[in-house]
Amino acid sequence: MNDKTLQFFDTTGFQQDLIDWYHANKRDLPWRMDQDPYKVWVSEIMLQQTKVDTVIPYFYRFMEKFPTVYQLADADPQDVLKVWEGLGYYSRARNLQNAVQEVVDTYGGEIPANPDELGSLKGIGPYTKGAILSIAYNQPEPAVDGNVMRVLSRILKIEDDIAQQRTKKLVEAYVRELIPEDDPSSFNQAIMELGALVCTPKSPACLLCPVQEYCLAFAEGRENDLPVKSKAKKQNKIPYVSLLIKNENSAYIIEKRAEKGLLAGLWQFPMVPINEIGWDHLENWILSEYGLEIKVSEKKGELKHVFSHIVWELEIYGATTHQQYLTDERLRFVYKEELQAYPFPVSHQKMMTYIV
Ligand code: SF4
Repeated sequence: MNDKTLQFFDTTGFQQDLIDWYHANKRDLPWRMDQDPYKVWVSEIMLQQTKVDTVIPYFYRFMEKFPTVYQLADADPQDVLKVWEGLGYYSRARNLQNAVQEVVDTYGGEIPANPDELGSLKGIGPYTKGAILSIAYNQPEPAVDGNVMRVLSRILKIEDDIAQQRTKKLVEAYVRELIPEDDPSSFNQAIMELGALVCTPKSPACLLCPVQEYCLAFAEGRENDLPVKSKAKKQNKIPYVSLLIKNENSAYIIEKRAEKGLLAGLWQFPMVPINEIGWDHLENWILSEYGLEIKVSEKKGELKHVFSHIVWELEIYGATTHQQYLTDERLRFVYKEELQAYPFPVSHQKMMTYIV
């Protein structure tokens, strides 16, 4: 790809063939029923790092519970986390609610169509901003994520590393030139859909591709070499002992995570960073950390929780305490039947299966 490529590129033919294919082949996704900016926004936030099939039931539940910005703005944050439970990347849910509160307070409940105002809302980065502006408000704005980068790297034979920020800027600049003024909504969705259904990461279906005749990578048989992407850093593994601590009344101890950082505001069973503490000091550490006297019993199982940059390796142990009252305000006693009322990360939900 060089600066002259678009000079010889049949932009009009490409737009037309891509958009025609999109209208004939697009999937019936619930957030595509209309161009409601709130639905576009919620769906785009849910779809970050998450597959479409996983998102669909979450999207329905979310819309049922919080059908407009007003219901979401007024909701208890723990209820929002509960509906998001299992979807991961929970800061998305918190940022969404904070941003929606700003929409209600500052913009009278209307999601701004002004790029600067929209982009200043919490959790709305350049991609989400472009998606809302183009899909809901028909503005010719690029919405470039990894999926779109892959497709355009191939079509325009861009050989720069897509992990680099400047490559993203380059692709955005190309989209600005390619996007049609009269139907930016269909164009951006069509590129996304092409990446999901045809120009997939491995083995793109070039023979079925509606824009094959425009694709510079295909013309040179290079579709499997692109995009170029430098390797991500290796995930850091952190071992924890996670404790199912119960008292004589069979009430279990759960802990609320801090309001900031990883899995903020969610609940979990207490976790001991065992490499730092050491097995010999486990019970003492619980006493000094939580003011809680416990006796560790049998091992119940092992689980992993994979985040984008780290992996928790969890060994699950049972434990007992004689205490009936808790002094640490992060902790709470709950009975087995009450656990479902609290939002937990997936690994800790799975831990509940060890409670008989
Ligand atoms: Fe992707 Fe192949 Fe179509 Fe090119 S021809 S856009 S590589 S599916």
